[in-house]
Amino acid sequence: MSYDVLVIGGGPAGLSAAVNVRARGRSVLVVSNPPEENALWRAEKVDNYLGLPDMTGPQMLTAFRRHAERAGVVLQEGKVLNTMYMSETWYVSIGTEMENAKALVLASGVVRGNKFPGEAEFLGRGVSYCATCDGMLYRGKPVAVLGYSETARREAEFLQGIGCEVTYFERPKQCGISGGERVEKVTCDGVTVRTDCVFLLRPAMAPTDLFPGLELENGYVRTGRKMETNLPGVFAAGDCTGGALQVSVAAGEGLIAGQSAAAYVAALQRKTMK
Ligand SMILES: Cc1cc2nc3c(=O)[nH]c(=O)nc-3n(C[C@H](O)[C@H](O)[C@H](O)COP(=O)(O)OP(=O)(O)OC[C@H]3O[C@@H](n4cnc5c(N)ncnc54)[C@H](O)[C@@H]3O)c2cc1C
Repeated sequence: MSYDVLVIGGGPAGLSAAVNVRARGRSVLVVSNPPEENALWRAEKVDNYLGLPDMTGPQMLTAFRRHAERAGVVLQEGKVLNTMYMSETWYVSIGTEMENAKALVLASGVVRGNKFPGEAEFLGRGVSYCATCDGMLYRGKPVAVLGYSETARREAEFLQGIGCEVTYFERPKQCGISGGERVEKVTCDGVTVRTDCVFLLRPAMAPTDLFPGLELENGYVRTGRKMETNLPGVFAAGDCTGGALQVSVAAGEGLIAGQSAAAYVAALQRKTMK
């Protein structure tokens, strides 16, 4: 389906952006991992959000989601795996599906940790970030699942269900992937197994994996005062832009990013009507 704006990430920044896109009468889709994978969900108590002391993280996120739904925001569970820009439209792949929008808001939070040795080298040659997309290629074959997200076990079960021989590693700290033309083995925390594919299941993707060419500053997405990035029609908000990494900042930046994205779409429409 086609939307005016698509938001990547359903935390405070993404939901605030989406609510403010709707306030300008534009359609908006928020794609995000399940709420339980959100940073705020892990906060026992949030005491510094103005006017709402004593809330737990889950209570706050649930209230934000309810507000977004009431505003007419479409919420979709899924992981954005990559994006492509063509003819003033962004195409976004979500698992095995594809959606498109005129503008994007990146609100994917912080990604902790570096890539593992071999990960970038073997990506697409036996390293995958998506079990449902690539699992069928490995039916009857040995695969290793490195689970860092709450849904990783479910994805490992899916792989097992379609006939893969799964070795599951729960949040390994160290990992090395090796092989020749393709992946042949993986070593996790000192345990080596032969495998045809390593499924790396993290809750978030690095912004530069989603958008090759996206400019960073000190490891965070570089934005201007309207939360614009260096890419056409791409805005960013919240923890992914660095700074204080707090809910109030995320909600405020989300508001600006949402308004800017809506204004960008309006300008694009005016241009094509001329
Ligand atoms: C334990 C803990 C306690 C905290 N306590 C406080 C506090 O008391 N006060 C305070 O102000 N802040 C607190 N924070 C920080 C606060 O939670 C964050 O600043 C805030 O959640 C950032 O919002 P965000 O929307 O930018 O990112 P996030 O809330 O991290 O949301 C990003 C979302 O995007 C999803 N995502 C990422 N990549 C993709 C992708 N490719 N496809 C689909 N979805 C994707 C992620 O899974 C995540 O759900 C706390 C954080 C933690 C972990």
